[in-house]
Amino acid sequence: MKPKRISSINKPDKCPRCGAPVYKILYGEPAMSEEDYFKTYGEHVIFGGCIISGDDPTWACSQCGQEFYQR
Ligand SMILES: [Zn+2]
Repeated sequence: MKPKRISSINKPDKCPRCGAPVYKILYGEPAMSEEDYFKTYGEHVIFGGCIISGDDPTWACSQCGQEFYQR
């Protein structure tokens, strides 16, 4: 079951599906783990990989994986 596409102008505070925090997705080759990134920059992120289609979500839910597109 594919999650429904959700668009938002600003980063949603909480996932509308499960209420978990929503994290920014970072693309590219990560030089550190997500945990180390948080320790270094104080921001939770999800690594989205280095394959970018040009239509990629900006944020994702930390629990259920629901993706959010910036519009
Ligand atoms: Zn969720």
